[in-house]
Amino acid sequence: MKKVVVIGGGWAGCAAAISAKKAGADVTLIERTDMVLGLGNVGGIMRNNGRYTAAEESILLGGRELFEITDACSRHKDIDFPGHKHASLYDVNIIEGVVRRKLLEMKINLLLKSRVVDATLEGNTIKSVTLENGKVINGDSFVETTGTTGPMGNCLRYGNGCAMCVLRCPSFGPRVSITQKCGVKDMIGKRNDGNYGAFSGSVKLNKESLSEEIRNELNKNGLVVIPLPEEEINQGKLNIKVCQQYALEAFAKNLILLDTGHAKLMVPYYPLDKLRKIEGFENAKYEDPYSGGIGNSIRYLSVAKRNNNLKVIGVDNLFVAGEKSGFYVGHTEAIVTGYLAGHNSVKNALGIPLLELPRTIAIGDLVAYGNEILDSEDGDKLKVTFAGSVYFERMKKLGLYTIDKNYLKDKIFKLGLMNVYDEKII
Ligand SMILES: Cc1cc2nc3c(=O)[nH]c(=O)nc-3n(C[C@H](O)[C@H](O)[C@H](O)COP(=O)(O)OP(=O)(O)OC[C@H]3O[C@@H](n4cnc5c(N)ncnc54)[C@H](O)[C@@H]3O)c2cc1C
Repeated sequence: MKKVVVIGGGWAGCAAAISAKKAGADVTLIERTDMVLGLGNVGGIMRNNGRYTAAEESILLGGRELFEITDACSRHKDIDFPGHKHASLYDVNIIEGVVRRKLLEMKINLLLKSRVVDATLEGNTIKSVTLENGKVINGDSFVETTGTTGPMGNCLRYGNGCAMCVLRCPSFGPRVSITQKCGVKDMIGKRNDGNYGAFSGSVKLNKESLSEEIRNELNKNGLVVIPLPEEEINQGKLNIKVCQQYALEAFAKNLILLDTGHAKLMVPYYPLDKLRKIEGFENAKYEDPYSGGIGNSIRYLSVAKRNNNLKVIGVDNLFVAGEKSGFYVGHTEAIVTGYLAGHNSVKNALGIPLLELPRTIAIGDLVAYGNEILDSEDGDKLKVTFAGSVYFERMKKLGLYTIDKNYLKDKIFKLGLMNVYDEKII
């Protein structure tokens, strides 16, 4: 049996592990912290704008398990907020356990609290990776989904210091770029002012720390919009954040809160003393990052060049997905690239042609577009997401955005791609 090793247990790594397992491989998923899902433990927004199309395409391709879970764990469905339609909000407080059980039920070997620190190659082929405790893990194919966030030194250098986010680098050790260990140079994202990286775009407040009125509205509608006093409006903050899909005036002029189990506040950070001056926020307390009053995690510090089948250029048996595979923002983007990378890692181990999704579907186009901009001028300043900004505009222009499930079903069927990830290749 062929062995696939997935490094990094965020949404991309979980999806890669699942599709590799479904294709028939023996799969080991290695995660440095004590939880899977990585940044997925603090996000929650799904199916907004073009993410709806991508989720439905993935389900039709057979990449369905993780979307079934995010749908089932949604606290709110089909809500609209400024610039965004038909969003679902999964509960960040329960989803990790559900995903973890799914991985174990599928008999994926899950190594938690296991940080990969090195890779051993013969020529351009990885033979094994080494954990911090010295243990060596062999494999036929490898998928790197370690994300692009931190570690601490980078948040100090390019941000406002370690804001103590869910990745908990001081406890579990820094992210390691496996592609870099293989001699492939990391690409680094930039902000409009030329600084490296970008601030994560939201903070989470403890819902119980907010007024009863705000809490009730959040629980009922999933959304609260509070106009800011004139002196508190800061358009500048829109430029520093990752999430260009939220770089809209409404997000500078209002406090926008979404109910993901916590109260997700759509700003990169907000001084606690100022926040507490707003009615209903007198006792506000940060849940993530702990220092959301002064900063947030810094992302897009480690992207690898790869082909449209997600194989890393320069290494014969290494694939990437999620943020590591482009300047992608989002759970949906991580999941759909993860499913493709995991599937192709098995095909690669067997020496059979890899799957490249056509550009006539949104996922195929996003994978190819994310690749193209890596070489374009100022491409390192763009962030790519089905949910908004440049890429959602492109989806609309190309006619790729739809919420018509029957239309998508017909399209995927005609392309001969129905349930392609369900096929047992080994
Ligand atoms: C505060 C915040 C809010 C967000 N909100 C949303 C939202 O509402 N909706 C949305 O769609 N997106 C949201 N995002 C973006 C989204 O979470 C990410 O783009 C996506 O989840 C990235 O997934 P990933 O798997 O590529 O990377 P990550 O989630 O970063 O996962 C990488 C994993 O690799 C592990 N790892 C790193 N190095 C090693 C190593 N050497 N050995 C073993 N493991 C390692 C890490 O511990 C981590 O678990 C948010 C992000 C943040 C930070």
